[in-house]
Amino acid sequence: MPVASVRLTRWLLSLGAASLVATAAAAQQRPVVAIVGATLWDGTGAPALAGAVVLVQGERITCAGTPAACPVPAGAERVDATGRFLIPGLIDTHVHLLFRPNGVTHPSIRGDLRDLLARGVTATRDMGNNPERLLEAVREAQPAPRVFPMQLVAGISFFSPESERTPGGMVRHAPASGGMRQLGWWPILYVSGGDPRQIIRQAREAGAVGLKLYQGLDSAQVARLSAAAHAAGMPVWGHGWVQPASVREQSQAGQDGVVHAAGLAGELVPRATRDSLRTSSALLRVTADSARTAEAARRVQVLATLDTLAARGTFLEPTLHATLLSAERAGRSRRRAQALPDRYAIAASVFGMEVTRQAFARGVPLTAGTDHVAYGPAAERAQLETELALFVDSIGMSPERALLAATRDAARAIGQPAVDLGTVAAGKKADLVLLREDPLGDIRRIGSVEWVMRGGARYDPSELRGLP
Ligand SMILES: [Zn+2]
Repeated sequence: MPVASVRLTRWLLSLGAASLVATAAAAQQRPVVAIVGATLWDGTGAPALAGAVVLVQGERITCAGTPAACPVPAGAERVDATGRFLIPGLIDTHVHLLFRPNGVTHPSIRGDLRDLLARGVTATRDMGNNPERLLEAVREAQPAPRVFPMQLVAGISFFSPESERTPGGMVRHAPASGGMRQLGWWPILYVSGGDPRQIIRQAREAGAVGLKLYQGLDSAQVARLSAAAHAAGMPVWGHGWVQPASVREQSQAGQDGVVHAAGLAGELVPRATRDSLRTSSALLRVTADSARTAEAARRVQVLATLDTLAARGTFLEPTLHATLLSAERAGRSRRRAQALPDRYAIAASVFGMEVTRQAFARGVPLTAGTDHVAYGPAAERAQLETELALFVDSIGMSPERALLAATRDAARAIGQPAVDLGTVAAGKKADLVLLREDPLGDIRRIGSVEWVMRGGARYDPSELRGLP
C-alpha cells in the first residue's frame, strides 16, 4: 500500500469511517456508520427531511429516513451531522480526463480527480477518451470519483482530410480525428454497411459503458448503432448534430441523449443542404452565421426539435459553463476577433443558452455535464458547481431541479452501470456529500463541502487536495 493510502486510511480510521480496503465478506462484518441529525435531500424528488438518519454498511446505504424508520444499531459509529445538509454524491455526465498520447500524465490526472472528489463529485462520465487507458489511469489515481467511459464513434468524414473554402481560396486541413488522437483518444470508424455489433464488442472490451457518436453519421447509421447498442444494454449519446444527422434525426433514430445545446444550430439548415455539411468547419460556420442570437433559438424548427426530445425522452446536456468559458476567451482575443472558432464560440454561447431555456420550459430531460477537462489552466476548466449555478440563474430552474440534473437524472443518463447511484436510499451505493450550508437556499452552497463519501469511505476535501 503506498504511503498516501496508509496516511489516508489512518485518517479515515481516526474518524471512525470504514477502511479503504474491503472485500464483500469483510463488508458484512463491518460496523454500521450512522450519519445522524443532518437535513437530508435524498435526490428522489421528495422534500428535504430534517433530523434524518442515514445508515451505511460497507459500501452501501442500508437505511435513510427518520430516526424512527432508521434506528441506530448498537455498536454503530455515530457521525454527528447536526445543522448540516446531506445530499447524494454529485455526478458530472461530461468530462474529458485523458490527455496524452498513449496514456496520461499520472500526477496531473490524479490531482484533477481528487479535486473533483473534494468538490463532492463522486461519479463522472467521460465523453471522449481511450476507455482502456483511462480506466488504467483512474485505478492508479485512487481515491477518485467513479469514472464511466463512453466510446467515441464517428463516420468516414471525421477520418478524412477536410477542404474549407475561405476568402483566400481552398484550404486543406488534416482529418479532424487527428486532434483527438493527439490527446490519446480512441475514436472508432463506422462506415455504412459495417456491422455495428463489431463496434459494440470493441467498445465493451475496452471497458466503455456506452457509445458517444461524433461526426460524419447519417440517420440510418445512427439508427443501426443505436439498435445494436440497445440490444447489448448500452446507451447511445451523441454530439449535438453528428453531421449530416440533425439533433431531431438523432432523437428519432433512437439515440438516448445529445450533448451541447448549441448543436441545435443544425436544425436551422434545410435537410438537402445539411447533407453536404459534414466537416468541423461547416459546423462552426453554420453556427457562427445562422445561430448567433437568442431569436434563432426560438425559430420553429428548433422548438419542434425540442418537442421531439421531450416526447421521446431524449436527454439534452447543454454544457453551458464550458461554452461560456470559450466565449469569454474569444471575447478577450481581439487579434482573433474574426477567426471562425472565436465567432463560433460567441454564437454558441448565446444560442445554446436560449436553446436550454426553451428546452427546460418544454420538458426536455436535462442532465448536468460540464465538458470539464483535466488539462490546461485550472481556472478555464468547466465545473459542476458553476453549471448548476447557470441552470438556476440563467435557465430559471429551482436549486432542487438543478440538483436533480446532477444526481438522480445524471445517474439515469449514464444508465445501467449507475443504477445504484444518484439518490440516498437503502441499497444504493454510499456516495454522499455533507454540506455546511443549505444548497436549496442558494445552489452555490454546494461548494461548502464538509466531507464527501464514496462507496462508504469518507474524505476531508483539504486532505484529498493535499495528497501527493
Ligand atoms: Zn466534450
